[in-house]
Amino acid sequence: METPGNLFVVAAPSGAGKSSLVKALLELDSHLAVSISHTTRKARGQEQHGREYWFIDEPEFRAKIEHGDFFEWAEVHGNLYGTSRKAIETRLAAGEDVVLEIDFQGALQIKELFPHAVLIFILPPSWDELRQRLQRRGEDHPEVIEQRMANAREEVSQARHFDFVIINSLFETALFDLKTVVHSQRLKYVAQMRNKSQVFAALDLV
Ligand code: 5GP
Repeated sequence: METPGNLFVVAAPSGAGKSSLVKALLELDSHLAVSISHTTRKARGQEQHGREYWFIDEPEFRAKIEHGDFFEWAEVHGNLYGTSRKAIETRLAAGEDVVLEIDFQGALQIKELFPHAVLIFILPPSWDELRQRLQRRGEDHPEVIEQRMANAREEVSQARHFDFVIINSLFETALFDLKTVVHSQRLKYVAQMRNKSQVFAALDLV
C-alpha cells in the first residue's frame, strides 16, 4: 500500500538518544506528526495519559489486539506496547508524514505490512558510551543498567534490517542526519509529482 504520506519508524536501544532526537525533529518539522502508542506500563514522573502514551490495562490492550486495532504491537521489557492502526492510516492517507518511535520488533512488523515505511536505527558510538549515558541519566539501579545493556546487544544486532543507520555520537550531527533522511523521502519523484503538481504540469511531466 502506497500512501501520500511517508511513514518513518525510529528504533534504538535505550540510552542511544532516540527520544531526544525525535523530539528535536518534531520541533523543527511542522509537517511531521508523531503517533501516540498504547501501553500497559504505568505512567512515570510527569507523563500524562494521551500525551506520552495512552495508558491502559492489560485486558483492554488484549481486547484491542482482538479487534485488530493495532498496526503493530510487541512486549518490551515486560510491558505491552502498540501503535493504533486508525490514527496512522488516517494521517498517511491525508498526506501527513508520520513518525513512530517504537522498538525493533514493532519496526520489523511494520516493514512486512508496509514495505514503503522508512526504517531508521539509532546506534550509540560504543558500548562504553552507552553504559555511561545510562549511568549519567541516573534513572536506574546498576542491575537495571546491566539488563538494559544486555537488551541493547540484542536490539543492536537487528540494525542490519533497517534502511538507515544514524550514529548518535554528536547530537547535532545525528539530528542533521535524521532531518536528511526525512527530507530525502520528500524529494522522491512520486512525492515531488504529488506536491509540486503545478511545476510538473508546466514542464509537461504529467
Ligand atoms: P518506554 O517504556 O521506555 O517509554 O519504552 C520502552 C520501549 O518501547 C522503547 O523502545 C519504545 O520506543 C518502545 N515503544 C513505545 N511505543 C511502542 C509501540 O507502540 N510499539 C512498539 N513495538 N514499541 C513501542
